Amino acid sequence: MNIYGRVWMTMMAMGFAAVFARADGEIEQGQKAEARARPVEVGEMTVSIYTEGEPRVAQPSLFGDFPKTEIEAAIGSNKLMLATHFFSFVTDGKIVFVDSGTGGKDSPLQRLFPPRSRIRHPDAFLITHGHFDHIGGLLLGDAPRFPGAKVYISKPELEHWGKEENKDSPTAKAIAAYGANVVPFDFDTEVLPGVWARDASGHTPGSTVFETQDVYFVGDLLHVAALQFAKPDACASYDMDKDGAIAMRKAWLSKAAREGKPIVGAHFTSPVGCVREAKEGFIFVPQ
Ligand SMILES: [Zn+2]
Ligand SMILES: [Zn+2]
Repeated sequence: MNIYGRVWMTMMAMGFAAVFARADGEIEQGQKAEARARPVEVGEMTVSIYTEGEPRVAQPSLFGDFPKTEIEAAIGSNKLMLATHFFSFVTDGKIVFVDSGTGGKDSPLQRLFPPRSRIRHPDAFLITHGHFDHIGGLLLGDAPRFPGAKVYISKPELEHWGKEENKDSPTAKAIAAYGANVVPFDFDTEVLPGVWARDASGHTPGSTVFETQDVYFVGDLLHVAALQFAKPDACASYDMDKDGAIAMRKAWLSKAAREGKPIVGAHFTSPVGCVREAKEGFIFVPQ
């Protein structure tokens, strides 16, 4: 990581941003803006975690007709906890976010980047998929919150949200708001130096896992850690193609377990951790 990246991550780690870039790119310390970022060292990279609101308890009905007895057997006395996170890291001198949360006035983005402040904006957003809890933070009303940022999103995901029946969705609005700054990609391409986009379709038609040397950002490959590692056949109602989602979930969890590479999930209460194979299903070991 270069010196700029280190300074930015350090400031995030301290819980406030006191860094903003002048027009010539030089970095100054200055304006203080509280931010709820939690940095985690993963291999050689630092991933900052931004959490929206408090974790909440999901109902078994979220998993449709998946047998309640199997849910109870898997979670025991635990609850079906769901949280909402998005993430950032620095690579090649660029501030890169993975997803953007729901946005709104309580979003960590509001504190990190207050309107009219000169704090340097993110350079890029890697969008795992177009559900609103991942893309909403890109917007301020109907306008782009970060007009200079590039928004990377897979071609099948763009195609899905571009369909006539989705044209009034907030996702279509966000995509339209960023216009030429939207960067469509194919799977298995290096979207930024050292960052690869991989196919995780099933949850949505263009769901993406972003891979770095140190970690897999898995988006909504699974939602409730307490249940779906043990029972990867359980699909949250948000999974659009249930059979596809199950197949992807199993394939990715097997791969992560085999490689020992940590995963980062958007909805786990502890979002970073390693996957282990179990007698039945998998085990998640949070970092
Ligand atoms: Zn989703
Ligand atoms: Zn989500």
